[in-house]
Amino acid sequence: GGTVSIADLVAWLERASELLTEHVTELNDLDSAIGDGDHGTNMKRGFAAVSEALGSGEFGTVDELMKKVGSTLVSRVGGASGPLYGTFFLRLGTSQKGATELDAYSLQSAMQAGVEGIEQRGKSMIGQKTMLDAWVPALDAFQRAADSLPLAVQAGAGAAAQGRDDTAPLEAKKGRASYLGERSIGHIDPGAASTALLWQAAVETIGT
Ligand code: ADP
Ligand code: MG
Ligand code: MG
Repeated sequence: GGTVSIADLVAWLERASELLTEHVTELNDLDSAIGDGDHGTNMKRGFAAVSEALGSGEFGTVDELMKKVGSTLVSRVGGASGPLYGTFFLRLGTSQKGATELDAYSLQSAMQAGVEGIEQRGKSMIGQKTMLDAWVPALDAFQRAADSLPLAVQAGAGAAAQGRDDTAPLEAKKGRASYLGERSIGHIDPGAASTALLWQAAVETIGT
């Protein structure tokens, strides 16, 4: 059982903004190893803008909220991650038109729609050393535990962290890191690390 309200979703995103800010250097360092060193800065800037937009807005439905979140990320994050995370939140919302709260099953299908949005926009899939290597196992774990929303969120977060760590031995096939070919092996993907932080924020806000 359990449901998340719009206020719960706002709390999740606000906590995500805090965590991304706390981890800005770590995310930049991961991106310095296999990219251009800006992933932390990109995420911090994007979620600070989200946080600001949420503070000044009123949202009657999940779709309205996520439209604001997604469009803010698309417009305010310079890097590849902006349109990808932006698409995730836009699709999450449009898949649940009119909803004012989500139970574990509707949250699962909403996040599933979001992940499919990342795959379409990024022309990418699991195993290519991207954020999808955290998202996909997280959603699988969430689905298996969906009888309880808090337990599902906790299971998802555990799998996201494992998926992040499991990107290290992979060779990047998408994004900037793919330019390095085999030299991308041995490093954790920064986008998988930021996805794990989004899940950690979920545990702290809707996972209890
Ligand atoms: P940029 O590479 O433009 O500087 P960021 O550093 O903010 O953008 O984001 C890089 C992250 O975006 C990568 O670590 C990876 O997780 C993710 N990413 C890049 N391209 C793709 C893609 N095609 N599909 C899914 N994720 C991707
Ligand atoms: Mg980068
Ligand atoms: Mg960049």
